Amino acid sequence: KDTIMDGENVDQESSIEELNKSIAKSAFDKLQDDRKTLPVYPYRDELLQAINDHQVLVIVGETGSGKTTQIPQYLHEAGYTKRGKIGCTQPRRVAAMSVAARVSQEMGVKLGHEVGYSIRFEDCTSETTVLKYMTDGMLLREFLGEPDLASYSVVMVDEAHERTLSTDILFGLDIARFRPDLKLLISSATLDAEKFSDYFDSAPIFKIPGRRFPVEIHYTKAPEADYLDAAIVTALQIHVTQPPGDGDILVFLTGQEEIETAEEILKQRTRGLGTKIAELIICPIYANLPTELQAKIFEPTPEGARKVVLATNIAETSLTIDGIKYVIDPGFCKMKSYNPRTGMESLLVTPVSKASANQRAGRSGRTGPGKCFRLYTAHNYQHDLEDNTVPEIQRTNLANVVLTLKSLGIHDLLNFDFMDPPPAEALLKALELLYALGALNKLGELTKVGRRMAEFPLDPMLSKMIVASDKYKCSDEIISIAAMLSIGNSIFYRPKDKQVHADNARLNFHMGNVGDHIALLKVYSSWKETNFSTQWCYENYIQVRSMKRARDIRDQLEGLLERVEIEVTSNVNDLETIKKAITSGFFPHSARLQKNGSYRTVKHPQTVHIHPSSGLAQVLPRWVVYHELVLTTKEYMRQATELKPEWLVEIAPHYYQLKDVEDPTSKKMPRGEGRTS
Ligand code: ADP
Ligand code: MG
Repeated sequence: KDTIMDGENVDQESSIEELNKSIAKSAFDKLQDDRKTLPVYPYRDELLQAINDHQVLVIVGETGSGKTTQIPQYLHEAGYTKRGKIGCTQPRRVAAMSVAARVSQEMGVKLGHEVGYSIRFEDCTSETTVLKYMTDGMLLREFLGEPDLASYSVVMVDEAHERTLSTDILFGLDIARFRPDLKLLISSATLDAEKFSDYFDSAPIFKIPGRRFPVEIHYTKAPEADYLDAAIVTALQIHVTQPPGDGDILVFLTGQEEIETAEEILKQRTRGLGTKIAELIICPIYANLPTELQAKIFEPTPEGARKVVLATNIAETSLTIDGIKYVIDPGFCKMKSYNPRTGMESLLVTPVSKASANQRAGRSGRTGPGKCFRLYTAHNYQHDLEDNTVPEIQRTNLANVVLTLKSLGIHDLLNFDFMDPPPAEALLKALELLYALGALNKLGELTKVGRRMAEFPLDPMLSKMIVASDKYKCSDEIISIAAMLSIGNSIFYRPKDKQVHADNARLNFHMGNVGDHIALLKVYSSWKETNFSTQWCYENYIQVRSMKRARDIRDQLEGLLERVEIEVTSNVNDLETIKKAITSGFFPHSARLQKNGSYRTVKHPQTVHIHPSSGLAQVLPRWVVYHELVLTTKEYMRQATELKPEWLVEIAPHYYQLKDVEDPTSKKMPRGEGRTS
């Protein structure tokens, strides 16, 4: 009897296996069929011929035509990977990950094997990887180790129209000139093609004819006071008035916080709609969304339901979501802005350009006629929006790029072949900062400190803090702090119904008013002491996912310490020394308390405030050093630590003089009341 049972089981199992195999097989076949329906497919051979004939080729095609996912596969199929890897750069991390995942599915291989991706602090590639999707910043870093990119046969600089800082620098490095056998593809979703072609000595342009259905554009009659609310109302209106099978909705918002707010409100309001209305599936997508949740936006919408995708401008051209019929465009995005005079950088919510607005609208007309609801007036569009987005290179802090270029041996930055040059003032400011940090000498040459700093994929001030920790014998603590700072502000969480508990848990780490940097260190080391316990994170209202990422980054920083020959040393009981190491990197970010409770930055006086989330928000020390400024309702310092003014002169005598840090009030103090010395 037993044998029969066994036999039955075996049979059943093997038939399930067979079934699974055939399901997988048909899914694979379906993917292959899908590949053939993409606009680029009919041009496959022509495109391969053009790539064969020219070293540099500009490729233009509408978003969704298959440039990113297909062209590297065509090249692989045509044998290019026998000579070296194919690298494809993306301006955004999420795009690099998501596209690599898709291509690995299409090729029927495991992600990280033949197809992989590489983004900062996360390398999902292996010896066998031949198609490598990566952020443009990572390719730039690869130059440092491999200046002729010898392991590549093709480099595809994708999404070139985005004109990110790293893409622009990659262009200027003129990769193709030193490697006649390397193919360079520049691909773009928009019409800037001529400009790219001109820049690359009249490289030919290959146009992939797109399919685009008509898109009806609707404007609001009057400007919207609250675009977020208007966007939600519009989405719900579409959902309840249009039949569900008819298409999904894509809403462009500016960032994670806004998207989370919109998600919450939409959930609340749809709950009240009752069962007669079709289900509305809400899919957020933004840079820091955990990988597991990113895939959700690509899942086909179930019959009878509708999807609403809440996206940052990542969905403008980087990712194509099928099935979108309605686009809601409030007309804003978050953009970096940089003031070269003060050297201050902020993320600002800014109106989009006409080019962006048109890309956004285009997302609705990919598979059929679409509709785009612009939450601004036609007059706004005509008269207030810029034609094109200003390239990042003209609105950012260049210190990082200058350090990279100097490490590559490029000294004459003013004559570097920029496609659109940055303001000379911004270049000088970057040189000045790097000099102040000790990365460059008076002649503008890279110093030993600078060489060490360039090894770290971090902003120069963070790198300097790490390099300086050698002197203060606290590299162990400093790399934990650097890793925690690199996570951004997603470490603590604060559920709406448990805010008091969350705030208390958080204050624990601030005991003794140690400042935000040391509090971050305490979070990390406490977690480490629990042997990286998830339970501990729950109990302390800390995001375990962020902590794991911090641990990962920290491990990598530790590896880099070894590379620059800095020993891992711990000095945990001497907080003052740790603060001095922080100050060694961040001394340009110092601020002094004013009578009214605001602060004044020391070097380029500007009024700033301690961020309400800081542990020092109630303490208001006389002097602080801060990590970064964020502009919301006010200019806020995020992550601040108390500082003794004499440190500034001690650590950066070339930057601060005694008069900068002298306290005018203390001079007037009568004898005896001052500090005893
Ligand atoms: P392009 O680069 O020209 O904008 P893509 O190669 O990114 O075009 O996209 C081609 C097709 O592949 C689109 O229909 C898109 O929906 C699909 N696609 C891309 N990435 C994914 C993904 N991660 N999951 C599912 N489908 C995807
Ligand atoms: Mg693409």
